[in-house]
Amino acid sequence: MVKMSLDPVQVVSAQVNELKVGPSSNGDSRGPWEDKQEFNSQECLNNTKPKSVTGRRARKVEGAVFFPRPEHAVTIAVSTRVLFRTEKEQKVFEQQGIEEYLRYQIEHENEPFAPGPAFPFVKALETVNARLRDLYPQSEELFDIVLVTYNHAHVGVRLINTINHHNLFIERFCMTGGGSPIGYLKAWHTNLYLSADADKVREALAEGIAAATMFMPEKQTVVSESQLRVAFDGDAVLFSDESERIFKAHGLDKFFEHEKDNEDTLLDHGPLKGFLEALGKLQKKFYAKGHRLDCPIRTFLVTARSAASSGIRALKTLRAWGLEIDEALFLAGAPKGPMLEKIRPHIYFDDQMFHVEGAAEMGTIAAHVPYGVAQYNSSKKNQRWANKLT
Ligand SMILES: [Mg+2]
Repeated sequence: MVKMSLDPVQVVSAQVNELKVGPSSNGDSRGPWEDKQEFNSQECLNNTKPKSVTGRRARKVEGAVFFPRPEHAVTIAVSTRVLFRTEKEQKVFEQQGIEEYLRYQIEHENEPFAPGPAFPFVKALETVNARLRDLYPQSEELFDIVLVTYNHAHVGVRLINTINHHNLFIERFCMTGGGSPIGYLKAWHTNLYLSADADKVREALAEGIAAATMFMPEKQTVVSESQLRVAFDGDAVLFSDESERIFKAHGLDKFFEHEKDNEDTLLDHGPLKGFLEALGKLQKKFYAKGHRLDCPIRTFLVTARSAASSGIRALKTLRAWGLEIDEALFLAGAPKGPMLEKIRPHIYFDDQMFHVEGAAEMGTIAAHVPYGVAQYNSSKKNQRWANKLT
């Protein structure tokens, strides 16, 4: 049983801590959520929010407010440091230690954090949810956003105040008090985890969870408020890094030869394939109601593969998976930044920092997927070509 606490945020924290990562994390048996009726986010809402906040929330979403069960939802876990700007607080922590940091957070708990790099993405998810709720009032197939933070529960008050200040619809918190969130991510059936902590992102990827590291870009392009736009690199993001390994081992000519010879052999899946699949599942719900042309989700493949020589294998693989990508751009080694500047995605995923940095310099919100052979050291020459290829 969950012990009651005077600190409302501790109630959330204690209930979250009761979740066990059991057999359900592989999806083949009942999830812990089905047996944990007491961990009902509406209860958390009522328990954790000041009365005025609850009232505002109820007005904001008219009619029945429910939260989808994780096995039905597309769960997006975001860390505090990517959803909000917390550099100042981070500096207090690093320079003055945990006690001073906690004191600072409590003293400033009525000051909302400014939006971070994942903020426009999360807002766009909520826009899609609003459209889905209109079309399918009873459906649990929605985006569900979980705020994951290593913070102590005392910081939760400031986070809740910030969420309400920005009118975000986030009810699920995972406050680990410094511990790893990976077990909770599995319990939540997380479809995508975004964090500023590259080690945690690697840990999540190793557990089979789609994940990426986000950075605060110096400039940020204005993005759509009515359509969620997500762009993916191909190799080592949607696809495995198998073709890239050929290139690393044998060079560019062999790579082209290999891709031509294996044109009809499907590429293996990469770490973000499942997330594209989840987006596709929601897109089809709009198509089924006649909203293909004004679908609020649009996906892009932005690859340095060239269309004629190596692109066909990528397209055939996506088609065989039953995944529709709305736009595919084969850049044949050209820089991705200018193209992404035109696309204006809410997030772009790439396994190579070279491309992430190039995109970010031009104002695109880019996230790094630290997966595959490109993460290992290689000669400068190979690295240069790898950058062009992937
Ligand atoms: Mg790549």
